[in-house]
Amino acid sequence: MWIRFLLVFFWLVPAAAFAQSHPIVLLINSYDSQYPWSEALTRGVKDEFSATIPDYDLHVEYMDERRFLDDEQYHRLLVDLLKYKYRRYTPEIIIAGDDLAYNFMLEHAETLFPGTPVVFSGVNVFDPDALADKPNFTGIQEGMEIQGNLALIRQLQPEVERIVLLGDRTELGQRMVRRALAIKAQWETDSAKSRVQLDIWDDFTLRELNERVKVLGKNTAILMMAIHMDNEGTYFSYRYDLPLLAKHSPVPIYGMWGTLLIGNCVIGGLMNDPYQHGRNATKIAVRILNGTPVETIPVKDKAAYAPVFDYPVLENFQIDLDRLPPDSKIVGKPVSYYEEHMALVNTTVAVVLVLLGIISALMVNIYQRRRAQKQLDEFNHSLETLVERRTQELDARNQELKKASKILQSLAYTDPLTGLGNRRAGASELKARIERRQDMEPLCHVALLDIDFFKQINDTHGHPAGDAVLCAVGQVLTENIRATDRVYRWGGEEFLLLMTCQEAGECAELLQRLRTQITQLSVGDVERITISIGTAAFVGDDSFDSILHRVDQALYAAKHNGRNQVVAF
Ligand code: GH3
Ligand code: MG
Ligand code: MG
Repeated sequence: MWIRFLLVFFWLVPAAAFAQSHPIVLLINSYDSQYPWSEALTRGVKDEFSATIPDYDLHVEYMDERRFLDDEQYHRLLVDLLKYKYRRYTPEIIIAGDDLAYNFMLEHAETLFPGTPVVFSGVNVFDPDALADKPNFTGIQEGMEIQGNLALIRQLQPEVERIVLLGDRTELGQRMVRRALAIKAQWETDSAKSRVQLDIWDDFTLRELNERVKVLGKNTAILMMAIHMDNEGTYFSYRYDLPLLAKHSPVPIYGMWGTLLIGNCVIGGLMNDPYQHGRNATKIAVRILNGTPVETIPVKDKAAYAPVFDYPVLENFQIDLDRLPPDSKIVGKPVSYYEEHMALVNTTVAVVLVLLGIISALMVNIYQRRRAQKQLDEFNHSLETLVERRTQELDARNQELKKASKILQSLAYTDPLTGLGNRRAGASELKARIERRQDMEPLCHVALLDIDFFKQINDTHGHPAGDAVLCAVGQVLTENIRATDRVYRWGGEEFLLLMTCQEAGECAELLQRLRTQITQLSVGDVERITISIGTAAFVGDDSFDSILHRVDQALYAAKHNGRNQVVAF
């Protein structure tokens, strides 16, 4: 018992889960699936449904009325077919596209789909009384923009004198013709409009129509209302027959059925769009499916008509584009490369400008750096020149200083009167010889030479004569000593002689010879000059003072003994 219950339960649950949960929608089109108008309307319905209801089941029927218009038997068969088909698939809502589907539903909906809501769209010829007992009907009338298009023709062709309106003999065509006749009657009473002649053509074969348009004079225009078939029942194709008609016509053809006409040699007009009809009707259908009662949604009285034009045809008829309504859509207008790629071009221009900015900034930077570098180089160069000049000046100054220092040095060590080394030079040399002294060195002798009675010479002959005597004595000494001997002016009329002698008598001999040479001197008026000499040789521990002391004593002895002699200690 339990097992059987569970089996039934598990069978029912998935079945319920997969049961039809999304709504079935039936779209009935007036025409066939190849007819561009019906194709666009169907596409609008599909797009709107898929945008608002994720899961739906759309069934599309095409009544093919352009081929079977006013065919009673066809309609009876169609009713039966739909009755058979939709007994199994009950639609939750029906969308009727265009007049013929709408009229069909008015007549048969009650029998085929009792109580099911019907949303119609694209209905040109609408009678509100027909819906008096149809609370489940709502939708959007398409209307007919005959008046608006006539006004548009007058705006674009101000010199127009005649407008031919094209209709046909079908029931739908005749409804449009009746509307056109009413407008014609109205225009004839209007003084401004009465200047334009309205002609309504509805009774022709397609060949006759082509012949008739051929002879239309200038200042004429054609307004296509609707041609489904000619008076022989020949189907009128907007894709093939309309361009042929336009080819024969010397004047522009206007119209109001966007998708059918644009691209088929019609100049343009206030047009409506079947794709938008499909979307708008579906919006109403979705509201009803979501629970809004159909009777609370009023019928919209007119679809949107907007100016659309075909650019090559406008060009062909030399229509001034400034006369077009400001919000016109112009199909086939060549767009410039800029218009087509505006974003790309703008971005590229912006990028190029930014790059140019960066490059300019970098170039300015490079220029400034080069200039700064040049200034730095110039500054360095001038600095180097300055340093070089200063160095040369310093070198010159140095040379001068060295020279001055040499002069000072020689002045410090020279006696200015005789040109001999002075006492400072003699003392320095004597000290140096003492320091250099070695045991094995040849014997060093020191001698002091003093002019005898020099004071008398000064007194007798004058001080300049004394100076001359000093110079002459100095010269005799300098010229007669040996290369290794040195003579200095020791002070006043005294001279110091430093000698090296290998033997004891050698120096004494030299001194005697010098003394003798002096006695032979005569300087100006001074005829007798003699000198006394004291001399001493170095002994082991002699110092500067000790040797000079001995020499002094020797000189003193020479003076004391009578002068003009050499005394050695
Ligand atoms: P003595 O024989 O004892 O040496 O007698 P003296 O006159 O030569 O010696 P004294 O010391 O009495 O005099 C030396 C003089 O030498 C005194 C001084 O005026 C003079 N005299 C010193 N220096 C110079 C000098 O440069 N030029 C001249 N013309 N006379 C000088
Ligand atoms: Mg003296
Ligand atoms: Mg003297």
